[in-house]
Amino acid sequence: MNISFDLDSTLIPNGKEFETEKRGGIAKLFGIEEIRKGTAELITELKNQGNKVHIYTTSFRTKGKISRTLKYYGIKVDRIVNQTENQRELNRRNINSSKFPPAFGFDIHIDDSKGVGIESERHNFNAIIIEPTDKNWIEKIKTEIKTLHNKV
Ligand SMILES: [Mg+2]
Repeated sequence: MNISFDLDSTLIPNGKEFETEKRGGIAKLFGIEEIRKGTAELITELKNQGNKVHIYTTSFRTKGKISRTLKYYGIKVDRIVNQTENQRELNRRNINSSKFPPAFGFDIHIDDSKGVGIESERHNFNAIIIEPTDKNWIEKIKTEIKTLHNKV
């Protein structure tokens, strides 16, 4: 399956809402951002199970910047969709939603936004909404993906 992750407050903290991986002082100078603790293991596991993993964000960060941060933590994703690409594609399709994962072939999208949760019902796509403070976020994602796997 194609699984996409939101960035802000899902994998990259906005403040101090979740624990993050260690980051060297020099990395910070080079624009490497902090990342949620456990992200690399989770993504590796999902890929080992045969899934493709993507980033789907409404942030205007460049794909290069996002991929540099991920690479620093040993993470490689299959595709990155940022807001520039998202807006272009959703406008082209006349879709009135902040996100619409099926436009990019994503089967399940993981996000912190309740708004995206509402959109998922309105536009009929699969989303897993994770509270930024949820300490069991990894288990929740794995369980829900398993459930969806049996449905899709
Ligand atoms: Mg977010």
